[in-house]
Amino acid sequence: MISVVGSLNMDLVINTDAIPRPGETVIGTGFKRVPGGKGGNQAASIARLGTKVHMVGAVGKDEMGTALVQSLEKDGVLVDYIAEKEDVPTGIAAIIVEKSGNNAIAVVSGANYELTTEDIENSKSILEDSRILLVQLETPLPVVRKALKAARSYKNLTILNPAPAQTLDQDILADIDILTPNEIELEILSGCPADTRENIHEAGKALLGKGVRELVVTLGAQGCARINEDGIFHYDGYQVDAVDTTAAGDCFNGALAVALSEGKDMEEAIQFALAASAISVTRAGAQTSLPNRKEVDAFINNKLK
Ligand code: AMP
Repeated sequence: MISVVGSLNMDLVINTDAIPRPGETVIGTGFKRVPGGKGGNQAASIARLGTKVHMVGAVGKDEMGTALVQSLEKDGVLVDYIAEKEDVPTGIAAIIVEKSGNNAIAVVSGANYELTTEDIENSKSILEDSRILLVQLETPLPVVRKALKAARSYKNLTILNPAPAQTLDQDILADIDILTPNEIELEILSGCPADTRENIHEAGKALLGKGVRELVVTLGAQGCARINEDGIFHYDGYQVDAVDTTAAGDCFNGALAVALSEGKDMEEAIQFALAASAISVTRAGAQTSLPNRKEVDAFINNKLK
């Protein structure tokens, strides 16, 4: 079993010909409401890939909160530890996507920032039963710290996807088994440039020096790099026709956790995550783009032929 501690947002996506300038009103060409939030995306990804997963998070007492929880339940995510917070809205992301594919996003964290260390305390029994904890940075840092410490005390494997990017103190870094930044997050976390393979290795080593056991740096279409005390190892991404990379990183993290929870080694787990996330970029939206197990197994078998 895997526990995910993280955010739940409703994405309100409006398509336009062009992103409006300040003071301008433009007529949209489409609208969709899609469940999102890094925590919810990662939990949905895990459930679709066939592993039992508990979501620990928070929504407001409103219609969007109910819809988010129902959508996760439909995917098979266990939702008993999603708290309903009074007097605060469910997290939302207002996303305007223009024809060129560029977007502008405003997020209201709402209930996600009301998740407390007591909520983690109350979910200790599921952390105790889990093999893996997966956490991101869209909830307050004391919550992230508490979850990591609790998971470590129960000998869970801890995976931190450090998104959105911010610096972290050594106290948090030392409780991370696997850190999964993209290049920008790696730069911010390490304070070093991460623009070349050599620099990525140096930046990764700086974080290993602060107690992280190993890193998997996601590199978009280029795949990913694994960094540990033995060095840096590159894994190519699958070539696909990408239409929307929203939630690709969430899919990668969910799939990595699933494979590791099944006892696969890191090499195999990375290959599984590369395949799942490659499928996700061929489809639009956040949770709408996440593949199920059959699709990933078929994709891998097809590539092996
Ligand atoms: P990112 O967060 O953009 O680094 O993406 C996470 C993962 O999604 C990458 O490590 C790849 O496995 C996959 N991915 C992202 N973009 C693409 C793409 N254009 N083609 C294939 N795979 C991709």
